[in-house]
Amino acid sequence: MHFHKHHTTISFLKLSMLLALTGVAMHVSDPDPDLDLDLATLPLDGRLAFRGISHAACDFGHRFELPPSAVLYPGSVSDIAKIVGHVYRLGRRSLLTVAARGHAHSLQGQAQAPGGIVVHMEALAGQEASVHGADFDESPYVDVSGGELWIDVLRKSLEHGLAPKSWTDYLHLTVGGTLSNAGISGQAFRHGPQISNVRQLEIVTEVLNCSAEENSDLFYGVLGGLGQFGVITRARIVLEPAPKMVNALKMVNDKHVFDRSGCVTLLACLCSQVKWMRVLYSDFASFTEDQEMLIAAGERTFDYIEGFVIINRTGLLNNWRSSFKPRDPAQASQFDSDGRTLFCLEMTKNYDPDEAETMQQEVEELLSRLRYIPSTLFQSEVPYIEFLDRVHVSEVKLRSQGLWEIPHPWLNLLIPKSRIHEFASGVFGKILKDSSNGPILLYPVNKSKTSVVIPDEEIFYLVGFLSAPSSAGPDGLEQVLRQNERILQFCDGARIGMKQYLPHYSTQEEWRAHFGDRWEKFKQRKEAYDPLNILAPGQRIFQKQPPPAS
Ligand code: FAD
Repeated sequence: MHFHKHHTTISFLKLSMLLALTGVAMHVSDPDPDLDLDLATLPLDGRLAFRGISHAACDFGHRFELPPSAVLYPGSVSDIAKIVGHVYRLGRRSLLTVAARGHAHSLQGQAQAPGGIVVHMEALAGQEASVHGADFDESPYVDVSGGELWIDVLRKSLEHGLAPKSWTDYLHLTVGGTLSNAGISGQAFRHGPQISNVRQLEIVTEVLNCSAEENSDLFYGVLGGLGQFGVITRARIVLEPAPKMVNALKMVNDKHVFDRSGCVTLLACLCSQVKWMRVLYSDFASFTEDQEMLIAAGERTFDYIEGFVIINRTGLLNNWRSSFKPRDPAQASQFDSDGRTLFCLEMTKNYDPDEAETMQQEVEELLSRLRYIPSTLFQSEVPYIEFLDRVHVSEVKLRSQGLWEIPHPWLNLLIPKSRIHEFASGVFGKILKDSSNGPILLYPVNKSKTSVVIPDEEIFYLVGFLSAPSSAGPDGLEQVLRQNERILQFCDGARIGMKQYLPHYSTQEEWRAHFGDRWEKFKQRKEAYDPLNILAPGQRIFQKQPPPAS
């Protein structure tokens, strides 16, 4: 494929479309010697900024700072296509790269482009998000920009009584950012991660629309593809009726109400309730067996299932359940952790307030099958949207204490079920003697619902060490990094078969080991869709090469 400098964006897009239809992949062309190297001359709907762009060298991890040369604030999808096309046309003459930056909640510079161009995807958020199928004449979905935050996808969908099925714990992340990883949370056991709930994508490298039927190789490559194969400019996300809205919409469809849109909006505002429960275990085997039993129970189980580990926590009862009420206050006040490591199972049930009694019976039945310490049942009731947006409350609090914009040396691991006991006994209480530095998540997910790099077993556990440094300054950070290193070494030494989630490696050998059997396919896709290695350089998987010396 040859690009010429007089190609307009439209012809680039048309060409892309054509390639999409014919399934042709990108070929590296000879650089166009007449091409204007000056990015600033490109006509754009939005703008390129060359100054005041230091923020684009930062992320949530606060550990890597790789300044770009420019930031694109796109005014349209074609702006992104123009920039990507321009950098392609420069060929190996330039070492420019392009990174889509979602909400920059990466941990190790994954959305940065050292010396390259960062695309501020949120500039396109809010553009023509459209919900379809609210009348159930087709399966519902929402079309959103890749730079949309999930909290806004939720709000938009709720206006129609609908909601996405699969979530992350925190919703102030972009659609493109989580779909480039997986998007795993306590609903993944039922619906799969977010990448399993996408019908169609619009991608900019040189191909536009893709789905399971059209350009499926690109579609499956991009989902969980770490930004390597194209920029997600739009995504079609599968929706379901938001809890309670099932009945509300039925009423609407049965014409029991007159003003449809007003009614639905009003009901969405009223929102359904979530019964949110936490119980404690001191026995790891009972904890994991109960979690596994619950995720295997099909439809007759909780709507969300997660868990976390509490090690030697002082002030236990005041911390882990601050906004929860004990079911039995007298018994709960007697409970003493005795310094034991405890495991907290967390679950929810969504319900329509009109059906509170039925919900309560179902919850009681499920609870009766669990083996938690009886005095430790704590519960809370919150509106559905408040539950989904729960981590934002912590964000606001941490920000006010100056504890949000700090280094986050988080470590997320996927551990095969058959080794989770060995992992737990090697790590909790041994390598990790305290959990006061941040939550340690631990919950099972089924492989059948997941298509990213995961351990080779039917069920695996997501274990997230969401640690913050215990003190300001390099010592606190170093201490957490050393601890992370010891956990990784333990996994290696015991051959746990662990895979990292939100992986971070610095050599291609490590990446090859991470992908295992999937490496060759991953590499082939890179060669097909981004042969010059210009996209998402911050992942450090492939590096753009200068021209061979002649
Ligand atoms: P960015 O950090 O901006 O980008 C991540 C990567 O994707 C980069 O390589 C970037 O170049 C690429 N990218 C971004 N946008 C696009 C696009 N439109 N097209 C192509 N590539 C793109 N993850 C979970 O799975 N479950 C959780 O429960 C969860 N909770 C979290 C809670 C917090 C507080 C934080 C900080 C992170 C959490 N994460 C969770 C991790 C999160 O999903 C990833 O870090 C995700 O990448 C962040 O999205 P972002 O929009 O900030 O992406």
